[in-house]
Amino acid sequence: MSMMRKALMTTVSPPPPTAGSKVTVVGSGAVGMACAFSIMMEELCSELALVDVMAEKLQGETMDLQHGAPFLRHAKVVCGTDAVVAEYDVTAGSKVCVVTAGARQQEGESRLDLVQRNANIFKSIIPNLVKHSPDCILLIVSNPVDILTYVAWKLSGLPKNRVFGSGTNLDSARFRVFIAERLGVSPCSVHGWIIGEHGDSSVPVWSGVNVAGVRLRDLNPCIGTDKDPENWKELHSQVVDSAYEIIRLKGYTSWGIGCSVADIVATILSNAMKVLPLSTYVKGCQHGRDREVFLSLPCVVGETGITHIVKQPLTETEKKQLHDSATIMHEVQEGLDLS
Ligand code: NAD
Repeated sequence: MSMMRKALMTTVSPPPPTAGSKVTVVGSGAVGMACAFSIMMEELCSELALVDVMAEKLQGETMDLQHGAPFLRHAKVVCGTDAVVAEYDVTAGSKVCVVTAGARQQEGESRLDLVQRNANIFKSIIPNLVKHSPDCILLIVSNPVDILTYVAWKLSGLPKNRVFGSGTNLDSARFRVFIAERLGVSPCSVHGWIIGEHGDSSVPVWSGVNVAGVRLRDLNPCIGTDKDPENWKELHSQVVDSAYEIIRLKGYTSWGIGCSVADIVATILSNAMKVLPLSTYVKGCQHGRDREVFLSLPCVVGETGITHIVKQPLTETEKKQLHDSATIMHEVQEGLDLS
């Protein structure tokens, strides 16, 4: 304790070694910082630890965030100071570890193109996170998120309820925004789900889209099909193209995923049991068939992670699309080197 601290305060008991609701964000790039900033602004955690291999960038970002602390209630921000390797000591005792590290898509590149590069990066990240926070929940954001969630699950040895990906939480948000724009209502009042892969083979569940319980399919039986004169189907194409379009325009996506991740972290830390479309282990569950893959389904989320998967009724077309998604994931996983 410094002289000044000793002069100012009498010690009653030593401060706790770890904070109550600590969150780690690995990767201080565009996505990691948008997640960190959203988590901070929503005052979700008592301590935020940041990790990256780019030491100067990491320290700069940490200092910048720290300087916002007086405007918030409790937001201690820490990072490692080792200039050569990513430092994980600072992550110890995290409740949630958000992984955003890795290569991002270049213009025209698909999420699946990133797979082995980012799987290799995970070999150094995941064991370190689990070593320092064995009770944590791993929330994977790096792309291709469904496959990297499988990789993280394999590398971590954690139970499946505690390893999941941000999945189609963002795709579903984009879907609701586009439907809301057409209908002239708030996206909060549009209930629509995109499940399956976070990527090109994602599945829009048109059969369930509703506003105030009124299903749009009951008003337009052709919704989401090629026969629909209003071409609602194009909204799903817009969802799929969104990331490509934003990357073309600004080079990366960040704010939408930042808000999405903050919402997931809030759900975990407050044990809210909200239902969110997250990338989860689907083998053995309804529509999951027998493939050991991670895909997004409506998951009930609380402080122990995923507790239930909602049995969503799907049309035959939607089931087939989901199975096609699972086949694509499985084929890519088969070619992965996790040794
Ligand atoms: P970025 O290049 O800006 O940042 C990536 C960061 O990861 C860099 O700072 C880099 O130094 C760091 N990093 C690399 N290897 C590391 C390691 N071994 N340990 C620690 N840090 C390491 O990229 P970005 O735009 O922030 O995107 C990050 C990832 O998030 C990409 O894979 C991207 O595709 C993905 N993403 C996912 C979603 C989603 O909805 N799931 C949305 C947007 C982006």
